[in-house]
Amino acid sequence: MPQAVTSELAGPPTAGRKRWTGRTVMGWTIVVAVGLVLAGVAYAWAERITTERLRVSGAQRLDVYAGSLENLLGKYDFLPSTLELSDDVIDMLQKPEDAALQLAVNQHLERLNRQAGSTTIYVSDLRGITLAASNWREPNSFVGDNVAFRPYVRDALRGKPAGFYGVGTTFLEPGYFFAHGIYRDGRMLGVATVKVNIEKLEKAWVQGADKVLLSDEHGVIFLTSVPAWKYKTLGPLSADVQRELAATRQYFSHALTPLDIRYEPTRDDGVQFATIRASASGSGADTPRRMLSQSLSLAPRHWQFIYLSDLSPARSNAQTAFLLACLLQAFLIVLYLYVRQRRRSLRLKLKAKEDLQHAYDNLELMVAERTYNLKQMTRSLSDEIAVRQWAEDKLRVTQNELVQAGKMAVLGQMAAGITHELNQPLTALRTMSDNAAVLLDRGRIEDAKSNLGIISQIVGQMGTITGQLKAFSRKSTGNMAPVAIQPAVANALFLVERRLEQEGVGFRLDVRQHDAYALCEGNRLEQVLVNLFNNALDAMSAVDKRQLTVTIEREGSRLLISVDDTGPGIPDEVRAHLFEPFFTTKEQGAGLGLGLAISEQIVVEFGGILRADPAPGGGARFTIDLPISEQGAVHG
Ligand code: ADP
Repeated sequence: MPQAVTSELAGPPTAGRKRWTGRTVMGWTIVVAVGLVLAGVAYAWAERITTERLRVSGAQRLDVYAGSLENLLGKYDFLPSTLELSDDVIDMLQKPEDAALQLAVNQHLERLNRQAGSTTIYVSDLRGITLAASNWREPNSFVGDNVAFRPYVRDALRGKPAGFYGVGTTFLEPGYFFAHGIYRDGRMLGVATVKVNIEKLEKAWVQGADKVLLSDEHGVIFLTSVPAWKYKTLGPLSADVQRELAATRQYFSHALTPLDIRYEPTRDDGVQFATIRASASGSGADTPRRMLSQSLSLAPRHWQFIYLSDLSPARSNAQTAFLLACLLQAFLIVLYLYVRQRRRSLRLKLKAKEDLQHAYDNLELMVAERTYNLKQMTRSLSDEIAVRQWAEDKLRVTQNELVQAGKMAVLGQMAAGITHELNQPLTALRTMSDNAAVLLDRGRIEDAKSNLGIISQIVGQMGTITGQLKAFSRKSTGNMAPVAIQPAVANALFLVERRLEQEGVGFRLDVRQHDAYALCEGNRLEQVLVNLFNNALDAMSAVDKRQLTVTIEREGSRLLISVDDTGPGIPDEVRAHLFEPFFTTKEQGAGLGLGLAISEQIVVEFGGILRADPAPGGGARFTIDLPISEQGAVHG
């Protein structure tokens, strides 16, 4: 049963190992696909969020840059018109040949230019000839230059206050030109121009991955955080525009080539992306870069501010979100698998516990059943034992009776001899008693007395014989005690002594162990010895040389009593049945076939063995092998 329990608990060796079935593969494919979709959503979400942040920060910067530009320009906007407040300027325009006036205006403009922080201030007449300039001291002073071709001067001469960004024709320095007509009494006398350097604004613009650019109404980039983009265009210029720019020399001789920038259609959330070739960014490598593009129009001047945000933070944020989503999902899947595995092992444990309980219950049931059966068996066994006991007792009684019967049989066989033995003294008694009577009659008292003494002696001898017979025929007590072997042999011998004499059998007692004792019962031991002696004598009846030898010797803890004869010995076919009851080779009436059977049984009861072997000098040897008794005792 325990094996059954163990094997049940262990389960089949493949149990618990999951096989990849089509359904499992499909399930996992769906899980992975859903996971990737979710990670993709996280990617898009993070990109959108970061892009929005970039857009907001870009828009803020644009506002700041535009504000600072407007601030700067606004500061100088009014400056040209203030020159008409100066009488010297008005006088000089009215009297251009007056050198003193020109000097005064030159100095005035120089001072004003220094205080205002502008690049140059100059005053031109209605022909566009510069009469006075703040840089009048410099070798390349504007004084005397004709600036009529410059659009801002042209516009101012037409009565339109003008603002213009361009590259200076004298020093080739870019700047913003403010031009305003100088009026007196409603009549234009000339044009005042203030040139302001706005390139310093660029320096405050972002450095790094984000780009800023400012383009004019034709799309020509004139201020930018990327030096390489300066004087590039946002698109190809039309022939008219090219002609006009050449005429006004707005950007002097710079080649106005288009920047490689491609706009994507504006997204529904108002976000627009543009891809710019990296070579255009001046970094050298020809890698297209996708950027977030935002623009702000500076309406009055028709300028356009463009802010290009680097998208790498959005990309890396999106990638991080993708990775995090993947990790989170992987963690959730592992958690789910762990929980499932735990639940499964818990279930298995519970099942094992149940099975164990079941097995235990079964075991208890079986134990109860077995106990009941055992009890039944014990009961029937004790019944059987009682029956056997009874049978054994019966057997013992029967055996004792048999032993007794055997004894009686021996006595019966010896009856003729005994009768003869008793007849002789009886005859002697008769004769002696008759003689005694005659002697008494004759008065020979002394002779009669002597006769009576002999009679008494003969009666004593007869008493010894009958005493021996009585002792032999006595029922055994069944009590075991140390028995002296030599007297027992002598007693047995006494019973066959007459036969030895009559049949002319020689007897020899070979005592190799003196004062030997064996644990047995004397009466029965004598019975066995008488049996063996009688058998030996029977066997020797047909042979001439008749010798009976009894040997007493010790072998370790055993005492051996051997009875050797010089008979024909025991043939093998007889030896096989020697100790069987009622086996005899003797004539009917001569033997019952019980002698050896009873003898063996007696010896076995003593804890000994009765053996039959060939005698060393031919004939048979019967050996009684008994446990020796070290402590001597009285002969029972
Ligand atoms: P019984 O003497 O009545 O035949 P036993 O049991 O004493 O019964 O002997 C059985 C047989 O064993 C004898 O008939 C005889 O054949 C054989 N036997 C016993 N003792 C001797 C012996 N000393 N020599 C040869 N044969 C023997």
